[in-house]
Amino acid sequence: MSSTANRGEGGGESTGAYWCHGCRERVPAGDVAGDDVPNCRSCGATMPFERSPGATGYAC
Ligand SMILES: [Zn+2]
Repeated sequence: MSSTANRGEGGGESTGAYWCHGCRERVPAGDVAGDDVPNCRSCGATMPFERSPGATGYAC
């Protein structure tokens, strides 16, 4: 089972998301209230905000 609190799909909001580059974990901006920077639930690091998620991700 993959029940990881992944609600909010189908919103169509692509304003951006918070990313953990270490784990490639993604938290949509709509999921975060206010200016709270979320922490990666895998490694606990702060997740920097990035616009235009997906698409052309790999730079290295
Ligand atoms: Zn992480």
